Amino acid sequence: MTAVTTRWAGSGVAPGTAVAASWRADRPVPARTGPIDPGQIERAFQAVAADLDQVANRARAQGRRAAADIVAVGALISTDPDLVDAARRAAITADPMRGIHDAVESYARTLESLPDETLRERAADVRQVGRRVIERLARTGGGVSVNPSTRRFVLIADELGPADLLEHLGQGLVAAVAVRGGANSHAAIVARSVGLPLVIGVAPGLLDLPDDTSLLVDADAGLVVADPPHAQVARADEASARDGQRRAVLAAGRGRRHVTADGQRFGLLCNVASDTEVRVGRDSGAEGTGLLRTELPFLHADRWPTEADHRRALRPILAEAAGWPVTVRLLDFANDKIPPFLAGTPAGLRALLDNPAALAAQLRAVMELGRGVQLRIMVPMVTADTELGVVRAAADAVSADLGVPSVPVGAMVETVAAVEAIDELCLAADFLSIGTNDLTAQVLDLDRTDPRARPELTAHPHVLDLVARVVAGADVAGRPVSVCGDAGAHPTTLPLLLGAGVRSFSVACARIDETRYRLLHLDTTACAGILAEALGLRDADETAALVRERVRMVLP
Ligand code: PEP
Ligand code: MG
Repeated sequence: MTAVTTRWAGSGVAPGTAVAASWRADRPVPARTGPIDPGQIERAFQAVAADLDQVANRARAQGRRAAADIVAVGALISTDPDLVDAARRAAITADPMRGIHDAVESYARTLESLPDETLRERAADVRQVGRRVIERLARTGGGVSVNPSTRRFVLIADELGPADLLEHLGQGLVAAVAVRGGANSHAAIVARSVGLPLVIGVAPGLLDLPDDTSLLVDADAGLVVADPPHAQVARADEASARDGQRRAVLAAGRGRRHVTADGQRFGLLCNVASDTEVRVGRDSGAEGTGLLRTELPFLHADRWPTEADHRRALRPILAEAAGWPVTVRLLDFANDKIPPFLAGTPAGLRALLDNPAALAAQLRAVMELGRGVQLRIMVPMVTADTELGVVRAAADAVSADLGVPSVPVGAMVETVAAVEAIDELCLAADFLSIGTNDLTAQVLDLDRTDPRARPELTAHPHVLDLVARVVAGADVAGRPVSVCGDAGAHPTTLPLLLGAGVRSFSVACARIDETRYRLLHLDTTACAGILAEALGLRDADETAALVRERVRMVLP
């Protein structure tokens, strides 16, 4: 029988094309009424262990030892007799799936309450194993959900959080599609960062697709096609092959001296939230990490992260970044990153500063684990110099206590208030980094999740004017300034930022090669001329047209 092709239009917010089987991430666990044979549960655990072993072996064979070791721990947990016994006992209840879930959860919570940090870290692995066992049993019971961990898949969901993507990275995830979300949402940022095609804004009917449907995701065209015809699959394969070739040519610039066409030195760093991204960034020739987003693992938290929580999240990232310059940004629970425990409160930097214990917990973890890197601490959503004073005092207290040297403290400039207070901020901060994502959204009065909030809107003359004011203020005060928002990697806005005097860019890992290529070919004097003209235009469309006319760069 020929499958019927169904298409959905959406916005491609992270480029690329991929074809793979679909898997819905947020499908409710089905109730499976009546008890389950305990032997079946035991076999499900064994099968999950075998799956994970296989994944670990494959990763090891590919030379990805660290990832292999992490997956292998999951395999060991799946054979833990205490865990399997608890799940077997739950099997004879009226709602066995819920019973297994609760048994796994209580096991995970017991681990979390232990004094040994390494054991506490295993709680997440236990939950992961539990999810896979439940998925396997659900499949046996009614073909509902397929464990995607051992093969390529497209993740679909009503709404995707950054953690949903990070969790499946390196485990077969090749593309993602969501009904809700925006181009500047954090899922989109993570997707662009790791080079994962992501389409958002498709009609909810997509969620009704059975798992395992062949799905073509063409994020460049903003298109999702179920059961695509062979010819279209072939075209998509060709497109990804071409993309691969282009990436290889851009990657050939790695190792070149970072100077523009007119000989001006520039800095190129990467934005990260995981150890995988640090590896990608290093391999791509980034000079360090200009933005480590620390809040992403805690977006579903029901309390402030403890020092141990921070250590758990940061240890692999900072270990991978050993020896590198790393700018760690403090928790940025603002806008579309407000965890449940802060819902309904004025979140943002204020919340962190009002909780000295939460601030100290993060600073201790960062400064203790940051001994092996060239550490800088960056404060998000700053609105006044006094906020920096609070963080610096807390950081100095921690460094004295730990016996480590004090750490430079810098400000993100991503609110209009921060731009207006730029002279005072320069006195209080050791360095500045312009967050064009939030600054642009605020100036243009857009929500971060609004599909209209795209990186190229930073080309709006009002935003450019603020950027130029920040760079001028930093120059006068002799403070280093960089851009870590997504505009730094966008073809329209990069020349304008360079024209405003920015010489250091921290971009998504997947954009490093292309950004380097552009910067190597741009002329700062010409860019300054374009910026001067752009400041007199009306909106971002006009400035984009001006850049297109003046910067005729042909990428490989
Ligand atoms: C920004 O706002 O530009 C930025 C880099 O911070 P985030 O995207 O994490 O809010
Ligand atoms: Mg921001």
